[in-house]
Amino acid sequence: MLTRLDGQVALVTGSTSGIGLGIARELVGSGARVILNGIEAAAMGDEIAREFGKDAVYLHADLSRTDAIVTLMAAAEAAFGRLDILVNNAGIQHVAPLAAFPPEKYDLIIALNQSSVFHTTRLALPMMRKLARGRIINIASAHGLVASPFKSAYVAAKHAVVGLTKVTALETAEENITANTICPGYVLTPLVEAQIDAQAKAHGIAREAVIRDVLLAQQPNKKFATVAEIGALCVFLASDAAASITGAALPVDGGWTAH
Ligand code: NAD
Repeated sequence: MLTRLDGQVALVTGSTSGIGLGIARELVGSGARVILNGIEAAAMGDEIAREFGKDAVYLHADLSRTDAIVTLMAAAEAAFGRLDILVNNAGIQHVAPLAAFPPEKYDLIIALNQSSVFHTTRLALPMMRKLARGRIINIASAHGLVASPFKSAYVAAKHAVVGLTKVTALETAEENITANTICPGYVLTPLVEAQIDAQAKAHGIAREAVIRDVLLAQQPNKKFATVAEIGALCVFLASDAAASITGAALPVDGGWTAH
């Protein structure tokens, strides 16, 4: 079975919720063991990991901090004795006009959504080189390919992730390691729920109107992508079936970036 991941170990950052948790479910369903990560306290993370039995552990780490990433990566390799797959998924959003964008929010989004991908990747590569194989999957966004107003930090960070992934792919191309970006359109997760609530309040319109006229106005198929779809694509990219796919940025956006 070209798409089974038995015996492999994956670290999925930001996997206590939303897309990351969906990715973890698909990876475990395909035979991998998974290291979950988030900023939740250990007790809550352990509770989330319980769903996976002995196939998952939870490691708390704030990935906006380089020292925490160094500690996480060492603990991740120690957890199951190897690291085959790295999914960089942790990310946050803040929406504001550029001139009013809080500078500390900008710096935080760049640190978490962009710089953490550099740090986890640089630390994972030696672990993958030991195994003579590896898969790096970065969760960017349609906003890694096109822009929207009021999302300066997010769009800058996601475009950077697409570029960094290409560099990673070129540097590892002969080593049985691949690096790709998944670029989802809107997926209904807590991150998007917060945007729906904020827009409904700001414009005094109903939640359904925000979904239809603001968010999915961008998405030609008029449907949210699902966390299971993103997870299934991760499984495929992590598998032997995708050995020749590297340096790609794959939209999962119902046609948004076809415009
Ligand atoms: P979410 O809010 O549901 O989950 C975010 C996860 O990141 C949580 O597990 C949280 O613990 C973790 N996290 C937050 N801050 C962290 C930090 N400092 N250190 C470590 N972990 C941290 O979000 P989501 O919608 O599932 O988004 C996941 C990723 O997918 C993000 O990178 C986001 O940009 C991207 N994305 C989301 C959508 C969407 O529509 N939801 C679309 C495109 C891309």
